[in-house]
Amino acid sequence: MPGGTDQTLRPFLWRATNLYSDTEIVSRNHDGMQRYTYSEYEGRTSQLANALDEYGIESGDRVGTFCWNHSRHFETYFAVPSIGAQLHTINPLLPDAHIQYIVDNADDELIFVDQSLASKLAGAVADADDEFDGVDFVVMGHEAADDLEATPYESFIEGHATDYDWPDVDEDQPAGMCYTSGTTGNPKGVEYTQQMLWSHTMASQTPQGIPMADDDVVMPVVPMFHVNAWGMPFTATAGGAKQVFPGPSPEPEDLATLIENEGVTISAGVPTVWLGLMEYCSEHDVDLSTLETVIVGGSAAPKSMVEWFDTQGVEVLHAWGMTEMAPIGSVSHLKSDLATADYDTQVEKRSKQGLVVPGLEFKVIDDDGEEIVWNGQEFGELWIRGPWVTTEYFERPEANEADFEDGWLKTGDVVTVDKDGYIKIVDREKDVIKSGGEWISSVELENAIMAHDGVAEAAVVGVPHERWQERPVAFVVPAEGADRETLVDEINELLADEYPKWWLPDEIEFIKEVPKTATGKFSKKDIREEYADQSLVEGQVPDEAAPDRN
Ligand code: ADP
Repeated sequence: MPGGTDQTLRPFLWRATNLYSDTEIVSRNHDGMQRYTYSEYEGRTSQLANALDEYGIESGDRVGTFCWNHSRHFETYFAVPSIGAQLHTINPLLPDAHIQYIVDNADDELIFVDQSLASKLAGAVADADDEFDGVDFVVMGHEAADDLEATPYESFIEGHATDYDWPDVDEDQPAGMCYTSGTTGNPKGVEYTQQMLWSHTMASQTPQGIPMADDDVVMPVVPMFHVNAWGMPFTATAGGAKQVFPGPSPEPEDLATLIENEGVTISAGVPTVWLGLMEYCSEHDVDLSTLETVIVGGSAAPKSMVEWFDTQGVEVLHAWGMTEMAPIGSVSHLKSDLATADYDTQVEKRSKQGLVVPGLEFKVIDDDGEEIVWNGQEFGELWIRGPWVTTEYFERPEANEADFEDGWLKTGDVVTVDKDGYIKIVDREKDVIKSGGEWISSVELENAIMAHDGVAEAAVVGVPHERWQERPVAFVVPAEGADRETLVDEINELLADEYPKWWLPDEIEFIKEVPKTATGKFSKKDIREEYADQSLVEGQVPDEAAPDRN
């Protein structure tokens, strides 16, 4: 017997507005701080839904957003899917050509855009052929935009009724959409049905996920323009938590102020965000006492970050996920039988990408097509499946063939799994360095190098090599005040202590900054392109560039 209703987002909104009508939503908006309650939120979300109806958005239509994290963006999060339409969040940090491709591919009818991002979008529109034909714009706030013909959001919703009879939407109805950043080729679209977002929210709410309750104050720093800010606006609403949105381009100072003023208990972001906050805290007196949990994901959380937050009484939850899975896949909770393990062992475990969340299954397949043994040593590609893991890309049959098999998503992440079931990402498949037919983890080398005080950032890439196929080269951004004279030797010594000689980078080069992708990750593709002509030739490398096979 099926249940009485489909699995949709509507009950989460219903619960928050009926059980927690006075709980606050606080937002650093372009036009100043905004503070209102779930009850007012539902009123404005209803106004938006009525306005979308009047505009002519129908079930199945796509509505784009080009926005930072703020309350108006949050209003689109429930209004658009709950009228049966599809919320397509667009990453404004992408190059214009990708934005044009995405809007065209998704066939957006209407795009909500931030004041501060309107000129960026206008640039993409101006250069476009016909990708934006028939697309209208609404600019977030009271004012019109300078460079873009757009209706101000407040005029768009003004005068509309503050209630809405939210319909029964089919759980298979696409509710959300996001494109992967496209590290190769054009971005690939992933559609999230109502059921996928519902099940992702429910799994997030389990103790093994990233649960959020009515005594929490939740601040997603991870952008709402990429994979629904890891689903946090939905999870926080389901739990009735107070929500704090840090607004356009938040700086560490903005985050520190919001944590202090609003009593934030849970926040989430990529490692770069937390490195920025840690640095800010070392120079300023910041009160982090309300903060209980920091969720770190998108890229590997360095051990030193886990340890630093421990000293502040804040638990780091290291999470792994992908656009293709809305995105949460694993979280580094400590298993109960590790509660008595020594601190180093615990940190070791907590720094891994963690335990798969309830509802998913995974397997790890090696180069021979066999499943690996869970011994923390053998590695292979992580395959995963579950109710919120997509099984196809939007209109990309050729990509489907490469990335999906028998209902499994082939993640492209190379991992080990230890006997306790902790997944550890050792590399992206395309970033693994193949030296002399053997394998070197660029991620491990990067983390080891970044553990040196004199290093701000480091990226290690494989550079083509005549004899060994590829050899590692490290690109290092020295920290302020670091002694550059001795840094290379010190890094080499540090690595030599931990890794076999053939793992050591052939060269360590200083650079000003590691180029980043539109989702804030190190862009090895850009580094490779920039340094592609620097193929290493025989003689520049130590003899021992492959393991001793004897
Ligand atoms: P893109 O940045 O290309 O859009 P996603 O945002 O979907 O891609 O990122 C997914 C990828 O990010 C994963 O496949 C993995 O390689 C990497 N990733 C995500 N979380 C972590 C983590 N905690 N540690 C290491 N890598 C991670």
